[in-house]
Amino acid sequence: MKPIVILGIFVADTAYRAQRMPQMGETILGQGFVLGPGGKGSNQAVAAGKAGGDVHMITRLGDDAFAGIARDIWGKAGVKPAVKVDHESYTGAAFIFVDSNSGNNAIIVANGAAGRIAVEDIEANRALIEGAGVFVTQLEQPIAPAHHGLAIARAAGVTTILNPAPAAELSDAMLALCDYLTPNESEAELLTGLPVTNLDEAKAAAEALLRRGVGAVILTLGANGVLYHDAQQTLHVPVVSAGKVIDTTGAGDAFNGGFAVALAEGKPIAEALRFGNATAGISVTRVGAAASSPERAEIDGLLQ
Ligand code: ATP
Repeated sequence: MKPIVILGIFVADTAYRAQRMPQMGETILGQGFVLGPGGKGSNQAVAAGKAGGDVHMITRLGDDAFAGIARDIWGKAGVKPAVKVDHESYTGAAFIFVDSNSGNNAIIVANGAAGRIAVEDIEANRALIEGAGVFVTQLEQPIAPAHHGLAIARAAGVTTILNPAPAAELSDAMLALCDYLTPNESEAELLTGLPVTNLDEAKAAAEALLRRGVGAVILTLGANGVLYHDAQQTLHVPVVSAGKVIDTTGAGDAFNGGFAVALAEGKPIAEALRFGNATAGISVTRVGAAASSPERAEIDGLLQ
């Protein structure tokens, strides 16, 4: 199996629970704290590594304690770091306030070193990308390096996946470099300006993205699975249920990681979509993002 190269960010999620948000200038006592790994690129790399991929993660970290969390979780998932240590910045971190009465949250993301990922980071890993089977990226780091990575991958005949999250304005030139674009419903709406509330609308939005140059659109539809649309065919692939749904955080990341592994293994598209759904289907039965993604044996067991 050829390597999977993922460009994206890591942030340390620091989540605080309290009865209410403090007022400006006030200090209050909280009711809980959780420190965990986050960042879509890192979550997808961990999901792909645990699902059996030979995964390399291109990103930037600071030279600090939170960088150790990233290296630790990647090490456990078998993800190989292609990391630039940025001594002028810090490892990305997110402040997550959770209101313990309502469950609502308010978040500040300080992406630090990951926000400084640049075209030079891609050039430094050119040979790695050119030798990959699949290249995956998202939109949490600056767009220019993502575009450059997709261009290098395309020129070398590497399969490309862009998970356009969070949604942003993208040029047709960049979309044309994507073999697979994997938006969720709200990202597809933002990218196309079209509503996506049912399967017909999902197909119309996917068609609009094909017209802008994307090879195939995989619209993730939460509990409704995925809609796959390319110039030849449209497939609706339902979820693969693995039990009671507990926490859908990172479901999209688990799908992208699993799907990338299936493509790297040369599985046909319908099978690859089912593999992605099974990876995500297991992850939603557990709490957490990266922590909830399944090992390969669990995915194979579910798909038997
Ligand atoms: P997130 O932003 O939380 O990572 P997302 O909005 O990007 O998620 P979704 O479209 O909600 O992604 O879900 C991605 C995939 O996860 C779905 O296509 C499906 O395979 C799986 N999934 C989501 N919800 C469920 C569910 N309730 N039961 C089983 N599988 C689910």
